Amino acid sequence: MDGNDGGLTALSPAVRKFLSQPKQVLINGKWQSAQSGKTFEVFNPANGEIIGHAAACEKDDVDLAVRAARKAFDEGPWRRMTASERGRIVWKIGDLILKYAEDLAQLESLDNGKPIAVARAADVLLAADLFHYMAGWATKIEGSTIPLSVPYTPGAEYHAYTRKEPIGVVGQIIPWNFPLLMAAWKLGPVLTTGCTVVLKLAEETPMSGLRLAEICQEAGVPDGVLNVLTGFGEPCGAPLAAHPLVDKIAFTGSTEVGKLIVKAASHDLKKLSLELGGKSPNIILDDADLDIAIPGAASAIFFNQGQCCAAGSRLFVQEKIYDKVMDGIAKAARGIKVGPGLDPSTQMGPLVSQIQFDRVSGFLKSGADDGAKALTGGKRIGDRGYFLEPTVLVDTTEKMSVYQDEIFGPVVTATPFKELDDDLIRRANDTVFGLASGIYSTNASKIHRLASRLRAGTVWVNCYNIFDAALPFGGYKQSGWGREMGQEVLKNYLETKSVCISL
Ligand code: NAP
Ligand code: MG
Repeated sequence: MDGNDGGLTALSPAVRKFLSQPKQVLINGKWQSAQSGKTFEVFNPANGEIIGHAAACEKDDVDLAVRAARKAFDEGPWRRMTASERGRIVWKIGDLILKYAEDLAQLESLDNGKPIAVARAADVLLAADLFHYMAGWATKIEGSTIPLSVPYTPGAEYHAYTRKEPIGVVGQIIPWNFPLLMAAWKLGPVLTTGCTVVLKLAEETPMSGLRLAEICQEAGVPDGVLNVLTGFGEPCGAPLAAHPLVDKIAFTGSTEVGKLIVKAASHDLKKLSLELGGKSPNIILDDADLDIAIPGAASAIFFNQGQCCAAGSRLFVQEKIYDKVMDGIAKAARGIKVGPGLDPSTQMGPLVSQIQFDRVSGFLKSGADDGAKALTGGKRIGDRGYFLEPTVLVDTTEKMSVYQDEIFGPVVTATPFKELDDDLIRRANDTVFGLASGIYSTNASKIHRLASRLRAGTVWVNCYNIFDAALPFGGYKQSGWGREMGQEVLKNYLETKSVCISL
């Protein structure tokens, strides 16, 4: 395995051209450099080489972008457009993502490191589908008429109804693990509901989001409605989260930064939705079909190099089948083809950055120091790029950092349990997070009993990491506030106005 192996997907002429142009940001319909002129380097994590430079936006750029979004919301044509016109623009974004699917998949794989086969089959298709799904809601955002009884005005009659109105200017901040898809999850509903937006892309992976901004322009999103910035968290994300002209912040990222966002937004009580970290339990009962459960549990943690907020990172296996399942998962881990994302046969790519590689390696060291044992994996692959072996840790205890903290890498802890009892449920729920969970079983009664007791926003049964634009996703506990996708996400971007008329 080598970052420059032959057999890599050749970049399309359109992708080469896109990468050869200096990367600017979109403010008020114009592509421009950061006010300071500063840029930062963008890397290919398969070999550490620079693939481009992006604008290092700061407070001044944030201010320009927010003012553009404010003006577009308060005065622009966006709010006068019919719901149908808006829906058609959102639909067209989905169509254009499909039209440029291969370019987007290449950019995503190059910048993030993920296997191109995955970028093609998952990231790009899900992003397009999200816009197509959301487009249909534009014409179905409805209030209701409400019968009033007002006991202190006997005999008086009222006509009362509610209106659902866009919340206003939204600041959105996203992470690097699914750069295009996270942008789609955010932009689909924000545009559908008629809000305007300033989106800050993750510093590690700005490329596909910038291309998506061009696509949105091509689809007819008016100037100022969508503003897209690149830059670092402190200089660019923080002033966005605190900007007084922003009505709402939608953030996806770590729980740690989520708490900073809450503080920044609290000054003027901005509305907030948060999609944060996880340490999700994945439970295999002894009646499970192991032909489904073993590959399922392996892909629950190793998909996307383990850089999934919902990763099944704490595996619980019933005692009777523990050895067999562990053998199977270790074998599956060893069989994963690790390599550069642009190799079409790659199943697992590099971690996204040097920082992330160091972070995950730090967890592996702390696990070893604490007495955890690597059943398989635990080491770096090669000496270029950020490749790590898929790793299965056993002999972990509840106090260990590898067991409690979100590693965000291809590392699972596995522990046995005796019975499906209160103690198993306590152990499964013994985390500050509550994003997702998994159950593998063939017993319907056990599945439903367990599903109702797991304190997590998603329970996958005999499957894992199944996402759909129609299915709400989000966290209990410190995994977040609110839900993405489905009809539920619209609530994040709408205000309810009650209108009461004396007749
Ligand atoms: P992160 O460090 O929290 O960063 C997320 C975003 O916030 C980035 O754009 C980052 O900028 C920005 N940021 C950093 N500090 C900030 C500050 N003080 N104010 C405002 N913005 C700031 O997370 P990450 O490492 O990119 O992503 C991994 C995390 O995301 C994991 O915890 C994962 O579980 C979570 N995640 C959750 C979901 C979900 O749906 N629940 C989905 C995907 C990922 P930079 O570009 O400078 O880093
Ligand atoms: Mg990169």
